[in-house]
Amino acid sequence: MKISPIVKHLVLIGGGHSHLAVLRRFGMHPVPGLAVTLISREVVTPYSGSLPAHLVGLYSRDLMHIDLRPLAQFAGARLIQSEVTKINLEDRSIELCDRPDIPFDCLSLNIGSRPDSALITGASNHALAVKPIDKFLREWKFIKQQASTTLSTGENYRLAIVGGGPASVELAFASQIAIEQCEGTSGQKAGRLQICLVTAGDKLLTGHSTRSQEFALRELESRGVEIRFGGRVARFGKNRLVLTDDTELECDAAIYATGASLPEWPFQCGLAKSADGFIEVGPTLQTSSHDFVFAAGDAATIRNEPRPKSGVYAVRQGKILAMNLRRFVTGRPLKRYTPQKKTLALISMSNKSAIATRGDWFFQSASMWRLKDIIDRRFLKKYSELPQMPVELDIAPGLLDQQAETKLRNHAMRCAGCGAKVASSVLEEVLDELPELRRDDVLSESGGAEDASRIQLPDGRILLQSLDFIKAFTHDPFLFGKIATNHSLSDIYAMGVQAHSALALAGLPFAERRYSRQQLRELMLGCSEALEENGCSLIGGHSAEAEQLQFGMAVNGFAAPETILTKSNLKIGDTLILTKPLGSGTLLAADMRHQARHEWMDALMQSMLSSNRKASEISVAHGAHACTDITGFGLLGHLLEMLANNCMGVTLLLEQIPTFAGALTTLGSGIVSSLHTDNQLNAARISNQVDFQNHDLFPVLFDPQTAGGLLISLPRSRAKACLDKLVATGHDRAAIIGEIIEAKDAGTIILS
Ligand SMILES: Cc1cc2nc3c(=O)[nH]c(=O)nc-3n(C[C@H](O)[C@H](O)[C@H](O)COP(=O)(O)OP(=O)(O)OC[C@H]3O[C@@H](n4cnc5c(N)ncnc54)[C@H](O)[C@@H]3O)c2cc1C
Repeated sequence: MKISPIVKHLVLIGGGHSHLAVLRRFGMHPVPGLAVTLISREVVTPYSGSLPAHLVGLYSRDLMHIDLRPLAQFAGARLIQSEVTKINLEDRSIELCDRPDIPFDCLSLNIGSRPDSALITGASNHALAVKPIDKFLREWKFIKQQASTTLSTGENYRLAIVGGGPASVELAFASQIAIEQCEGTSGQKAGRLQICLVTAGDKLLTGHSTRSQEFALRELESRGVEIRFGGRVARFGKNRLVLTDDTELECDAAIYATGASLPEWPFQCGLAKSADGFIEVGPTLQTSSHDFVFAAGDAATIRNEPRPKSGVYAVRQGKILAMNLRRFVTGRPLKRYTPQKKTLALISMSNKSAIATRGDWFFQSASMWRLKDIIDRRFLKKYSELPQMPVELDIAPGLLDQQAETKLRNHAMRCAGCGAKVASSVLEEVLDELPELRRDDVLSESGGAEDASRIQLPDGRILLQSLDFIKAFTHDPFLFGKIATNHSLSDIYAMGVQAHSALALAGLPFAERRYSRQQLRELMLGCSEALEENGCSLIGGHSAEAEQLQFGMAVNGFAAPETILTKSNLKIGDTLILTKPLGSGTLLAADMRHQARHEWMDALMQSMLSSNRKASEISVAHGAHACTDITGFGLLGHLLEMLANNCMGVTLLLEQIPTFAGALTTLGSGIVSSLHTDNQLNAARISNQVDFQNHDLFPVLFDPQTAGGLLISLPRSRAKACLDKLVATGHDRAAIIGEIIEAKDAGTIILS
């Protein structure tokens, strides 16, 4: 029997160039028993090499970013978006805000660098650093706009760029073209764009060939860029730079792309500092101070082998870093790495031409730009288009014929969350077979047609009880604990009642004791945080080993009988409101196949993290007649449950149904959750399905939802006010999606 309990935890901090290679390699060749977590400030991480091409419109935003989410999914790694500022090296854990500490056995840092001018007085208020690049891009838009407006009024605009290395030279070329491209800068009234490159050195491109230095200088000057050598900035002021010799340079905006530096926090944690101010590592990329901590890229300097800070070295180190992390955690000797002495630098001139230099060699031409373009695109593609790994079935040869094996393979990628529920048809068949033992104080029918069961209490109140349980769809137990708790509470909220108390049921994968404890701790901290937000007490529970992480809760609520909302109390003429978008099933399925973008998943996670408590209160306050929560059986399945036993139907406004960003894209690519096909059997209940079955939104009707929204049926006269209130309280995607109509056949659905 093959089992691989988790026994060690590797944490990667920063989604830099080296960690991209680590993630890809770990995805191609996983280390059984090793859990991997990536913590990165940016999840859609910018690729600096493409920045100049993006500024002048040659590359789209996507062509200069790598989405770490699909890559982390590919590697089977947990992804946490957060900025690390404290590591406890003694007890090997990382402190993060808003979540429990993350313990580790082995750590790797690939956190890049920031321009050293960040420490100059006034830098944060009066100048813009090229890194972090996304912040630069956000603020660059304003500079460009301001420049364009000023120039179009006939006034001059002065942009100071501080630094004399390749990044500053590229920025000088690019910013000039980018600003001139802006509308309104041409025409007779246009002022003059004055770009001034201010460098403390006596030449540009120090460390590169003399011919490249001379060429860059000539070319910049010929484009009207002023170069100020020997200008060391002492202070950034409002619309001015003050140099160390007290000269003041006026400017409308200042950018800096000076030499690399590192913040102090890694050293405050106890990591060894190199003479040039970076994390000192040896030839194995282990830090000089701690053998279980590795560092690579700009953040690290190799003892006795310092090199300029450039992405080329960070990329090269990725391969050896992946190898050594694997060797370290499995107790094998590490490989030594000697960085190359010279690298090829390709410096974009932003006019589809580039300067190429390596050692003394220099060349400049359009072909060098094409070479850079090929290298950059290839790099981005390597980490954006990930191979589909074959599904391994552990079945003895000869047990299966080819057809059955293919079928099993296709089904092996089962969804988690609500996509992993048992189909409603199967459930009904089985429940119908069960004997019924009636009790007078049990008000619900057996089979549980309502979201929660109702038990009559002697004091006249009703005890509502519900149970829900889902498989983890994320590698993050903390996040999963919060979402699964919200998901479980929803059944009580769907009945218009507040959650009182809950019992937890946790299934934890077999793991080494320490890791098992950590998973349970994160899961339960997530759960208790969500319970606290909902004012619900945890009063008990049970845990057991399971094949994979699972969590659910039995929830109690108390209410007076007349205040309880049921599914079936719909009234003809009622308006239907849906409080959250649909599409979580397809997005979670795409995420499993590492085909979901971070921005889609981020919005989905935020929605799943938000409780239905407020929406429930609002629906009651607006006289709702009936309500349910949308989960595994999808909108149509749950709507049909509401309509069962009623001589009513629904007109559904298909185009009003809100969907999560990306859901229509993934559905359009045929990515559906495991339960989708069973849910789709309900399509037969749509009287005019032929007219709509090719509509983009049609499949979303069958998409299973995890922690989905409420579907509220309420008087038409109160629907607008209810919707306004929902929107005002953060349910900004809530929408009116249909109307209850009279129908001869119960459960008639008409799309409109
Ligand atoms: C305009 C410009 C153009 C350039 N062009 C080139 C070029 O063409 N070729 C070249 O070789 N080099 C180029 N460089 C240099 C290159 O940007 C760096 O050398 C390279 O990015 C370093 O890579 P890295 O892997 O060390 O880190 P980075 O690629 O900078 O990545 C660092 C990662 O760490 C994350 N992070 C940072 N701090 C934290 C934290 N505290 N907690 C969690 N996560 C954190 C960030 O979000 C990011 O994901 C250029 C630089 C600039 C400014």
